[in-house]
Amino acid sequence: MFNALVILQENEQQRVAIEQLSEEQLPEGDVTVQVSYSSINYKDGLAITGTGKIVRSFPMVPGIDFVGTVLESDSADYQPGDQVILTGWGVGERHWGGLAEKARVKSKWLVPLPANLTPEQTMIIGTAGLTAMLCVMALEHNQVDKSIGDILVTGASGGVGSTAVALLSALGYSVAAVTGRPENADYLTKLGASQIVDRSELAERAKPLDQQRWAGVIDTAGGNILANALSQTHYNGTVAACGLAADYKLPTSVMPFILRNVTLAGVDSVMCPTAKRQEAWRRLAELLPAEFYQQASEQISLAQVPQWADKIVAGKVTGRTLVKLN
Ligand code: NDP
Repeated sequence: MFNALVILQENEQQRVAIEQLSEEQLPEGDVTVQVSYSSINYKDGLAITGTGKIVRSFPMVPGIDFVGTVLESDSADYQPGDQVILTGWGVGERHWGGLAEKARVKSKWLVPLPANLTPEQTMIIGTAGLTAMLCVMALEHNQVDKSIGDILVTGASGGVGSTAVALLSALGYSVAAVTGRPENADYLTKLGASQIVDRSELAERAKPLDQQRWAGVIDTAGGNILANALSQTHYNGTVAACGLAADYKLPTSVMPFILRNVTLAGVDSVMCPTAKRQEAWRRLAELLPAEFYQQASEQISLAQVPQWADKIVAGKVTGRTLVKLN
């Protein structure tokens, strides 16, 4: 038997409980993993609190990412004892996830533990950090010119934002960090931000074109914040959009695209092809400095997860939250 966080639905109402499950109850898959760590991402918060329609079938074990050790494998790619990471692929949404002491998944969803990272570090990075790396890679792909101006990072105190600030700083970009929490200015400066922008400056309805300020943008917010970021992006700049912490809508115009050659690059980590994931993990291992892991993370137990789910949805979590399972 093992412990798992379970989301249950009764009379259209959702509730969560820690339950003891047996291995026979685990879903189909060719690899069974003893989970070492999972983490709390914004999407986990939406799923656990029932705020967003993330979970489609009940009971569901949430947890969109985990790292652990293979216990049993019917796949030639993995042997018992191997350390593996899982992020995305609908795990924790449609397939039981990582907020449990054991998980069973498809081997094709896994990547081996990257060289030079500990299991703990991989979940401090987690889905949020992987997504931040994919956003940075989108800016690089479009050859964003760091000599033109700063890179704007929105939702900077969050998981994606904090990691994006640290990665961009390590790569020599000058970073402007947007936050709604001025008390986090020191934290963001230590991570590598050279300028703090108050979220309220970007919260009103955007003009079709505004003064050109940003060479590139990593946006986790959506809504007016993304619209303002687009209208303030320099000629030829790129805006990588990955989130909706403010709004899923995008009240913008075609002006930044047709008059300033701005590119809006969508970034998804869930269905990202394995080769690109492995490249992103390799770059994360290479770029994140040792201090990042202390500065940007907190560790909690499975029993504390529901409380942290409330906090992340309320925008009150800073950095990344690691959940220790084994
Ligand atoms: P976090 O909650 O850790 O970070 C979000 C941050 O956004 C908060 O810390 C806060 O930063 C800011 N924020 C909160 N509420 C608002 C608001 N109403 N308006 C503007 N900003 C706000 O979440 P994650 O970093 O895990 O995820 C960030 C976003 O990226 C989410 O929307 C998530 O769904 C998405 N995402 C997408 C992925 C993909 O594959 N496309 C993968 C991972 C995440 P501050 O206080 O500094 O302003």
